[in-house]
Amino acid sequence: MDRIQEKLPFLLTQVERPGRYTGNEINAQLKNWDDSDYRVCLVFPESYEVGMPFLGYQMLYYILNKKEGILADRAFSPWVDMENLLRKHRVPLFSLESKKALSEFDLVGFTLQYEMTYSNILNVLELSNIPVFAKDRKDNDPITIAGGSCAFNPEPLADFIDIFVIGDAEEILPEIVEIIREHKKIGSDRITVLQACSLPAKGVYVPAVYDKAKDGMIQVAKIATIKPEYFSSKPIVPLLEVAQDRFAMEIQRGCGAGCRFCQAGSIYRPVREREPADLIKQAEETLRNTGYEELSLLSLSTSDYSQLENLVDGIAPICKENNIAISFPSMRLDSINVKILETAGGRKRSGLTFAPEAGTQRLRDVINKNISEEDIFSSVKLALENKFRTLKFYFMIGLPTETDEDLQGIVDLLKRLYGLIRSYPHTQINVTLSSFIPKAHTPFQWEEHVLPEELERRIYFVRNQLKLKGIKIMHRDPKFSIYESLMSRGDRTAGEILYAAWKNGARFDAWTEFFDQKAWDDAITGSGNKIEEMIGARDRHSTLPWSFINTGVDEDFLREEMEKAEKGETTEDCRVHCSTCGLCNADVKNLIAKETVYKKSTTSIKKENKNEQPIIYYTLRFEYEKNGMMRYISHHDFMRVIYRVCNILKWPLRFTSGYNRRPRIAAGYPIPMGFDAGNETMDIILNYNVKDPKETLNAVLPEGIKIHSADIIKGKRPSIMGHTSELFYIFHLMEKVDVEATRSQLSEILSKEKILCERKHKKGLKIIDLKPFIKSWDINEKALSVCYKVIESQTGRPDEFLKLAFGENIPYFIGERKFATIKD
Ligand code: SF4
Repeated sequence: MDRIQEKLPFLLTQVERPGRYTGNEINAQLKNWDDSDYRVCLVFPESYEVGMPFLGYQMLYYILNKKEGILADRAFSPWVDMENLLRKHRVPLFSLESKKALSEFDLVGFTLQYEMTYSNILNVLELSNIPVFAKDRKDNDPITIAGGSCAFNPEPLADFIDIFVIGDAEEILPEIVEIIREHKKIGSDRITVLQACSLPAKGVYVPAVYDKAKDGMIQVAKIATIKPEYFSSKPIVPLLEVAQDRFAMEIQRGCGAGCRFCQAGSIYRPVREREPADLIKQAEETLRNTGYEELSLLSLSTSDYSQLENLVDGIAPICKENNIAISFPSMRLDSINVKILETAGGRKRSGLTFAPEAGTQRLRDVINKNISEEDIFSSVKLALENKFRTLKFYFMIGLPTETDEDLQGIVDLLKRLYGLIRSYPHTQINVTLSSFIPKAHTPFQWEEHVLPEELERRIYFVRNQLKLKGIKIMHRDPKFSIYESLMSRGDRTAGEILYAAWKNGARFDAWTEFFDQKAWDDAITGSGNKIEEMIGARDRHSTLPWSFINTGVDEDFLREEMEKAEKGETTEDCRVHCSTCGLCNADVKNLIAKETVYKKSTTSIKKENKNEQPIIYYTLRFEYEKNGMMRYISHHDFMRVIYRVCNILKWPLRFTSGYNRRPRIAAGYPIPMGFDAGNETMDIILNYNVKDPKETLNAVLPEGIKIHSADIIKGKRPSIMGHTSELFYIFHLMEKVDVEATRSQLSEILSKEKILCERKHKKGLKIIDLKPFIKSWDINEKALSVCYKVIESQTGRPDEFLKLAFGENIPYFIGERKFATIKD
């Protein structure tokens, strides 16, 4: 048994959220390691919850796994608790599917979405026993590859990554994989493989072999169309609750608006809209295969998608039928209309986000945010009339040419909006003030990053004038933004600083609670550089660290845009009027979807109250086991898995009534996390009878949950909780314990009249007497066990008995709940 297999059960019992490392999700691809001749591990250098929702990450996982003989697994940055354990027990970081060390893969690929994850990349390499510096890697070490929006300035990571894919990776990544795979077959050495992969004309940058004079500029990879075959209709459905727990469907790539601060708007040009018919098909299939309750129409600016209303008409019937909400994550303020608001709200009119970015028309013109104050007010009014009661506003502080008048503009605008919302009771305005960070390949790439002290003054200027009930202002410490700025426009010196900061302890830098400013400041000081100079303004004609990357947008165009910004002149959306940025050619150009009209659904959104559900209902009771990797999934997450599985099966679930309707799924006493359960019971209330529930459930449930029996009756059953009489726990001891000493300690404690112990409740600590609940117990070398009685819906907890037996020194064990007896 290898070290990972040997230690994994122990590690998983010691960490806060073991489900981050188990894999085993619905639709995860578990390919046979030995049957695959080429193995890739795709790493998202953040926590599982942050990384899993990223669409591009799942897309590449699907594209690679589709290929015969190629295995693509996933890995994430281990959370700090897991990192400590990996180091302490000398266990390498492993992949979720095969549970293999990353060093055993042929290729390890990193997604670069945010500069503040860079220290995690170095950490992942070290935890995987892969030399951190590319130059130190030997022929048998994996090749490392990276791509994503941050790869457009690869230099800070050039010493650590072997290959960068810059641009759209869908076509070029599989090509690179095939090149390396062929070289693996013939046993080429590392440098030969890297030379073969160096394809500057196709967006592939290999720092070890790239020579600008000989190779020319790196031409960013662009795909002409976003093809349906890039998307899996069976994306992975996480078992844990993740940051954006929904099905996100990319409806277009690129944005024509030309906001001058926006890197995505520049590097993902031109606009490539997908066809509504393809999107409707994808939505239908994916929602059926995932059981999600929300569909998010993803794009840099969703409302700019030319066929949005028709698309909504086409998708609405599928969503209405299955109670799925549609959300629009990024809407331009001048394009919000009643139809979109009605659809966006669904049954829950929660929040709506607006991004004016600047408080005065002058500054909005500088940044080319082509919206007027009138647009802002009419959109807000529309939102209020459509019962949206939480309005979020985003503003940037520190934009080029910003003065106190512009800051006063934010205050005045919000005060006027405040006046408007007061006629709508219970409305809340949430304002986020973020620091402007100049980004590579944008018209503002040469601008200074305003120093934190000044940013703080400007934030205070705004905050201080908006102390009003109903307006909440949030901002991040502006000091934080300078390190992002440093990496975002940095060169290889930034990489040296990154390495030193990581050595000083930096990791999870995007998390306020982990961000270690001293680690970074010491690294900067040690490098002999001054941060003010590193993040200051750049000469508009100097060579920038990313000047060898050709995004297709001319540098002259960016300069002209900057000059227009200084004059307060705007540029039209390039779908309306091409501003000749230099990008479009015969193959790649703005692609607008064909007009496709769908019959508007005449059914109004179902009013979900209990009166609309049939009077007669059914209770499906099933007995099941939960073990293997599923033992590490909490009760809360497990219940959501069951709900999603019911959605996949299209079962007619019955819901509770009220605003926050919940499916009527009831389990017994929660199975503690980390415990196997052999014989448990669950009820699902259905509006109609369903066929073969045992077989259909077993066909869809993830490995580790198995239904033993299922029985459906018309009407109600006695509640599981109310009729549970006993719960039997076994603690399989994985460490040697002094059986006799434990036995005599337990006997002594249990002979007392009362056994008082503290129990944590939501409202604080409560003292309970455990004695009446203990029916029987036993201990031998292999296991400790206890059978608890349930008395008036109260019972003992497994950890309480463990504490009686071992005090604070609980040995390592694997828990099992053998049964929970239900009296019908
Ligand atoms: S060439 Fe014209 S249409 Fe194409 S991306 Fe540039 S500005 Fe837009």
